[in-house]
Amino acid sequence: MSIKLDGKKLSLEIEQKLNNFISSNERIAKRAPGLAVIRIGEDPASGVYVNNKEKACARVGIKSFIFHLQDNVEQKEVEQLINKLNLDKDIDGMLLQLPIPKKFDEQRLISFINPYKDVDGLNEKNMGKLVKNEPAMRSCTPAGIINLLRSQNIAIEGKKIVVIGRSLLVGKPLSLMLLNLNGTVTITHSKTLNLNKICKEADILIAAAGIPNLVDSSFVKDGAVIIDVGIHRLKSSDKDKTRLCGDVLLEDVIPKVFAYTPVPGGVGPMTVTMLLVNTIFSWQKQFGLSSTINDLLP
Ligand code: ADP
Repeated sequence: MSIKLDGKKLSLEIEQKLNNFISSNERIAKRAPGLAVIRIGEDPASGVYVNNKEKACARVGIKSFIFHLQDNVEQKEVEQLINKLNLDKDIDGMLLQLPIPKKFDEQRLISFINPYKDVDGLNEKNMGKLVKNEPAMRSCTPAGIINLLRSQNIAIEGKKIVVIGRSLLVGKPLSLMLLNLNGTVTITHSKTLNLNKICKEADILIAAAGIPNLVDSSFVKDGAVIIDVGIHRLKSSDKDKTRLCGDVLLEDVIPKVFAYTPVPGGVGPMTVTMLLVNTIFSWQKQFGLSSTINDLLP
């Protein structure tokens, strides 16, 4: 029987720990941790994600500040808001909910975020430190995946790991984190030839291509660990209904693998939890409450 890497369960465990950490330290800090979320425009999926983040903050005791801007706002105005939040003493973390409308220079906006408040870990300063394997804020989805693997004592060192996707949000930072943990990492992408052959060599296969059901059992070695980062809403046969699926055709793959992440309930909840961890880490650092991020994790 293969092991389900239950991100929902692990994220609840971590949240409990975060909640305790905040309540036992709030007296010293004299205020709750604060997270600012900037959303631009009306992308409906972003609305759902921002809502989820707001609810998760409330569960653990982080104060969230949501800035929902119309898409007719100017680049300069968003930059000014970011600068204001950089200086705001009640804000420990800040993120720009992606995607934003095309007319904005997304990377320029991210570069305005104070690296110490960059809880998505996407600012070039934090990315640069990741490349150098120095401590810094790490992006949430990759950090969530690493913690999910750790929770089941799945070794990374010496393992052959194939990552499908090279995005700035997932594929690239995740590959670097796994490399820093001594994995032997292959990064594949849309121009990779013989993708399934390469994937079949992996001890750990991570699918982050954004393509529904791309990975079937022909991609997977017996006994591999498979991590599915994709999340897609597909029409089901009953035409009024939709269902969620990932980049992996799970029912085909599960019988072959040692462990897998479900969709939903695998990587997704861990992403949100790591955002909370990063925010609290930034908060506690100002008050010298704890020394490493591991103190916040099980
Ligand atoms: P994410 O939300 O995971 O960051 P993106 O949609 O931003 O996803 O990026 C998708 C990534 O997946 C890109 O790096 C792209 O090269 C890769 N990709 C897209 N299609 C394929 C494919 N057929 N095979 C392998 N990689 C792919």
